[in-house]
Amino acid sequence: MSDSFEIFDDRFRALLRPDSRLEKLADGCIWAEGPVYVPAGYVVWSDIPNNRMLRWNESDGSVETFRQPANYTNGNTLDRQGRLITCEHGGRRVSRTEPDGTVVTVADNYQGKKFNSPNDVVVKSDGTIWFTDPPYGILPGTKEGYASEPDLDGCYVFRHDPASGETTLLIDDMVKPNGIAFSPDEQRLYVADTGASHDPTVERVIRVYDVVDGKSVTNGRVFCHIDPGMADGFRFDQNGYLYTSSADSIQVYTEDGTRLGKILVPEKIANCAFGGPDKNRLFITASSSLYVIDLNTRGI
Ligand code: MG
Repeated sequence: MSDSFEIFDDRFRALLRPDSRLEKLADGCIWAEGPVYVPAGYVVWSDIPNNRMLRWNESDGSVETFRQPANYTNGNTLDRQGRLITCEHGGRRVSRTEPDGTVVTVADNYQGKKFNSPNDVVVKSDGTIWFTDPPYGILPGTKEGYASEPDLDGCYVFRHDPASGETTLLIDDMVKPNGIAFSPDEQRLYVADTGASHDPTVERVIRVYDVVDGKSVTNGRVFCHIDPGMADGFRFDQNGYLYTSSADSIQVYTEDGTRLGKILVPEKIANCAFGGPDKNRLFITASSSLYVIDLNTRGI
């Protein structure tokens, strides 16, 4: 076990089962991102440069194409009705996949200006859709979308209310907002900044904001510094612990920003998502591969 984990705090041991071991489920991707577990028994994720979405079936371990071409999708999640909500670089939109497979636009602009390339997304318990909008899918020479001029004058975090159709700007003080998640009680919003990808002076951090009235945020501050690499996507478990991607591992943090330990992964990680029938399996997209590790905790 010693070569699979780095343990900084004894609370980390309680998260592990005797059989907790990283297992590779799929490979052959260029940049695997955006895993989501669908309770029908499969994981969907994006392979962004290959412009496809893949599906791993828990019944027999088979892997198949879910959608191709896929509009250079990135982050995925489910809404309150269990429908797939997807960030699309190519469509510069957040889309929804209906039960019949039709893909419809959820949101594609803020006050008439196109988004850059929505990256990661979370759905709140009230059904509103909160997402980040860095420029990776429109940058010159990008292999993750279509190079285009930005329409917006920055990279923001937005909230979309499907009931009213309104999109509001939540966060404008980050460089390249990327991974996004709520604390289990939805009183705090966490957002990773990957601005260091193009400017090494940008702090490699996850920021935290207090949620106000369930629909806006305030009091942004640094939650944790990530090393090595940067945080891209991350998720919370039932303890309120944060599981974040980094260059070498899934790193586990407590609510007060204490780093408990690392689940080492042999490839650079983009994102993770809890799933499985008991929500105790952490699915990890890392460069070419999809991995899983079974833990003694459950995702929210
Ligand atoms: Mg991301």
